[in-house]
Amino acid sequence: MNEGAPRFLADVMLGRLARWLRALGYDTRYDSSFDDGALAKLARAEERILLTRDVELTRRRGVRALLIQDDRVKPQLRQVVLACGLNANLAFTRCIQCNAQLEPLADAHAAGLVPPYVLQTQTRFRQCPQCAKVYWRGTHWARMSELLRELEAANEP
Ligand SMILES: [Zn+2]
Repeated sequence: MNEGAPRFLADVMLGRLARWLRALGYDTRYDSSFDDGALAKLARAEERILLTRDVELTRRRGVRALLIQDDRVKPQLRQVVLACGLNANLAFTRCIQCNAQLEPLADAHAAGLVPPYVLQTQTRFRQCPQCAKVYWRGTHWARMSELLRELEAANEP
């Protein structure tokens, strides 16, 4: 577990950002059916940082919020990484669809769940306990690693 790690709540505009934060391993709730009232209530009740494009939402009493500046997901992620001091220590430990923590999956059990070529080339599998999706260091991993390198480069003075 990432003890003391910030937890997030993304507004309806920020579904893609929510998925990236989950890929980084951060607990991020997102549901396109949440209205402003529900978001504010949930942010307070679960002490989550509300990520929003709506300046009105950042003014709700008792809500810790970060006003997201950009419409594009990369600058959005960069803003959150910088503002909240995030790292990639727990990248790929959480399901990007349902936010659940992934569990290790033995190679033997992965057979039949992933394509044969993946089974031949990958050794570490994880599975979501909620939706049963199987994860490995494939395309998503490569994309995320590339983006993280870009973010790190951008952080250097
Ligand atoms: Zn899942």
